Amino acid sequence: MFRTKRILVTGGAGFLGSFLCDSLIADGHEVICLDNFHTGSRLNVHHLCDEPRFEIMRHDVTMPIHAEVDEIFNLACPASPVHYQTDPVQTVKTNVHGAINVLDLARRLKARVFQASTSEVYGNPLVHPQVESYAGNVNPIGHRACYDEGKRCAETLFFDFHRQYGLEIRVARIFNTYGPRMLPDDGRVVSNFIVQALRGDPLSIYGDGRQTRSFCFVDDLVRGFRALMDAPESVPMPINLGNPSEFTIRQLADLVIQMTGSRSIISHHPLPRDDPAQRRPDITRARQHLDWQPMIGLTEGLRRTIDYFEDRLSQGAPMRRIPARALPDASHRPQPVHANGGLA
Ligand code: NAD
Ligand code: UDP
Repeated sequence: MFRTKRILVTGGAGFLGSFLCDSLIADGHEVICLDNFHTGSRLNVHHLCDEPRFEIMRHDVTMPIHAEVDEIFNLACPASPVHYQTDPVQTVKTNVHGAINVLDLARRLKARVFQASTSEVYGNPLVHPQVESYAGNVNPIGHRACYDEGKRCAETLFFDFHRQYGLEIRVARIFNTYGPRMLPDDGRVVSNFIVQALRGDPLSIYGDGRQTRSFCFVDDLVRGFRALMDAPESVPMPINLGNPSEFTIRQLADLVIQMTGSRSIISHHPLPRDDPAQRRPDITRARQHLDWQPMIGLTEGLRRTIDYFEDRLSQGAPMRRIPARALPDASHRPQPVHANGGLA
């Protein structure tokens, strides 16, 4: 029988969090969207604000959280390398202190709690495709470590709270996901390429473009989140969620140019340090235990994402060019790409 739940979504005003809020509200639940608006935006949830079952709480997960809820989804954390490397110490705190605060709350409430973990826990993987039993190849002192090790420590905390206190946990390892509501200056590859192509700017490939990623459309991922949260305790964890179709970054650039009809050229920039050479999820576990697999291929997902950015950019938002300093420099450290001119 359906029961309305009161659900806390940390990072609820972000790209993935806002679609998760939509999905929970559409199913009749009450949602508290907690966010400090670091990379999220009120605009992402603006359409929910007249909904009496929806509430926004401005808060930082590094501080203790007070709320009365039945379930918690913990998504708070910048996900783009550009953003999580801007203040790496804060990124570690968000992951580790944030996890502790969320888990303490869940323990007090005896609430089921979901962690948005990441394929980055596999680092630069030596096993391909990545299966959940693979322990990874992470550089603990590199530029990505604040995120990778932060997320690994958060997983440790989730499993220790489960073993020590019997907390009901759900841990998803998310692979590269894209879609509408990404910020034009997010810095991740899909939004960068689409914005660049629509403006006729060169598409910035880091390195030779032979590195691979497997891109999942946001609707598929959110369906996976919901299936995992509602799955019985016996589901093995953690669980990979992503689209196993693998592409080189060069293939992605060519597809975006073709689909936008852009006259953009390709420009090459240094590869950021520790950039994983290949990434593809093994989703056997999700298929078997959640009956979940992605339904939306890259072309369809890109079509919907391009339409979104075309709309946003045609609404008269300033279209500043991506400054040269925004691309990886000799220090190989990605810098923010300020392309939205206030769009967010
Ligand atoms: P996003 O940057 O759009 O969303 C993150 C949200 O968390 C933002 O709204 C931001 O303001 C908020 N936030 C950041 N620090 C916070 C803090 N200290 N306190 C409260 N709120 C805070 O990124 P996203 O793509 O929506 O990612 C959501 C989650 O999923 C993240 O935890 C990310 O690590 C994880 N993830 C995403 C992907 C992906 O491809 N999108 C892949 C792997 C993991
Ligand atoms: N990338 C790129 N151009 C860009 C942004 C990213 O070539 O403008 C590359 C990046 O070096 C990486 C891949 O695209 O190899 C995916 O990068 P993203 O930041 O989207 O996610 P990651 O998987 O690295 O966290």
